[in-house]
Amino acid sequence: MSIIGRPNVGKSTLMNQMIGKKVAIMSDKPQTTRNRIVGVLNAPGGQAIFLDTPGIHKPKHKLGEIMVTTARKTLNEVDLILYVVDASEEPGGGEQFISQMLKDIKTPVFLVVNKLDAVNREEGLKKISQYSQMVAWQELIPVSAKEKTNLDRLKDLIFAKL
Ligand code: GDP
Ligand code: MG
Repeated sequence: MSIIGRPNVGKSTLMNQMIGKKVAIMSDKPQTTRNRIVGVLNAPGGQAIFLDTPGIHKPKHKLGEIMVTTARKTLNEVDLILYVVDASEEPGGGEQFISQMLKDIKTPVFLVVNKLDAVNREEGLKKISQYSQMVAWQELIPVSAKEKTNLDRLKDLIFAKL
């Protein structure tokens, strides 16, 4: 499972809240050149491995382009992509780049709309609607990583898929 999204949307917070400190394996060192394990989620039904996918950002140079190619490969090989977006921000260029990239990927995508605690209900619904039109998703899960809202549902959906 790859967890993707532009910086600051709450990927790390979401993972930490789902995993819980006891079973978390966090590492900043690359396990392979392609991707790195950033967490392991254990549940009675099985185990979900969180992979960070470098190169998911818009390339600014040649090395960046190679990383994008590598990222695309990784995303095609994992069983599930968690695409995290921020409900307190308007979708911007970062989202457009990622959405465009996901168009060529066959892996199922769960669209996780995070930070629902930071917006009012009306604004939240508006953002969910905007983001939901950017990418072909299999499940759309509004959450607050900070307040742990809806994270049990997200876990259930992940384990139902893997
Ligand atoms: P990452 O770069 O995607 O890994 O994002 P981080 O997990 O580092 O979070 C970026 C910032 O957003 C931090 O200041 C978090 O405390 C904050 N944040 C993450 N999740 C939530 C959330 O559900 N609600 C709010 N209000 N803030 C959040
Ligand atoms: Mg992070």
